[in-house]
Amino acid sequence: MSRKIVITGAGSGMGAAIAQMLKANGDQVFGIDLKNSDFSADLSTPEGRQKGVDASIAWANGQLDGLVLCAGLGSSVNPPSLIAKVNYFGATAFIDGLFDVLSKTKNSSAVVISSVAAAQPDMINLPILEEYAKHDEAKVCQLLDAQNIGHLAYASSKNALTRYVRSKSIPWGRAGVRINAVAPGAIQTPLLQAGMDDPKYGEAIRKFVPPLGRVGEVDEVAKLVKFLLSSDAGYISGTMLFIDGGMDAMIRPNSF
Ligand code: NAD
Repeated sequence: MSRKIVITGAGSGMGAAIAQMLKANGDQVFGIDLKNSDFSADLSTPEGRQKGVDASIAWANGQLDGLVLCAGLGSSVNPPSLIAKVNYFGATAFIDGLFDVLSKTKNSSAVVISSVAAAQPDMINLPILEEYAKHDEAKVCQLLDAQNIGHLAYASSKNALTRYVRSKSIPWGRAGVRINAVAPGAIQTPLLQAGMDDPKYGEAIRKFVPPLGRVGEVDEVAKLVKFLLSSDAGYISGTMLFIDGGMDAMIRPNSF
């Protein structure tokens, strides 16, 4: 029987590449996005998240082998609260909402797309991370819009998301379900292009070249996600794998 996998953000970039690669592998895929996918849902709102989770559960019909969370927004999006709504609250709603059906399926797992920005040294002890941990969406959004720094919204949303993945890996692991985060560096997608073209952040993003000297390709991320969903990765859980051309090692050589 073929595997059944739900992918958010399947309409573009990494999510689309992952969906294509998994379908070519013989998997059944249910893509969720604002548009260009199997099911349309706006993950920035509680209603849209619920709609997406309910549709996924109905599609799974008791069998869900994999969950891949790619839907996300970059630093240049306004207002900054929208970034947290999609990147953190949109993703955690799927993590929570689909655990039950994942746990009923043998050898199931989830892969959550975080970012190399999650591990930025100045992200570690930010007070806003406590508000994310309390799941206080209104408070997180209020703080982010008051500070009005897109990069802070982006990096904090991904740091909080990785913390969430790691915390869930303990009860999930006990239930036999693996969950991991993937931390891409600069990957050629419309999201990266929007960042590079941004008048405020563009120059910094363009100048931030990893040791391997190039941006990554969506298929490189898709291959890693495919591996993490497979039985070859059967003992990998609760971790964050960087796929960043060496960028994290360049920024934080002594942290691992
Ligand atoms: P992308 O823009 O090509 O794809 C992101 C998808 O998320 C889009 O299809 C978009 O419609 C969807 N999305 C956005 N808001 C949504 C909403 N409210 N409801 C439902 N869907 C929504 O970008 P990408 O680069 O492929 O991004 C995939 C993930 O990778 C994101 O979480 C992003 O933060 C992360 N990421 C990207 C890079 C990079 O350099 N491209 C680096 C690190 C992490």
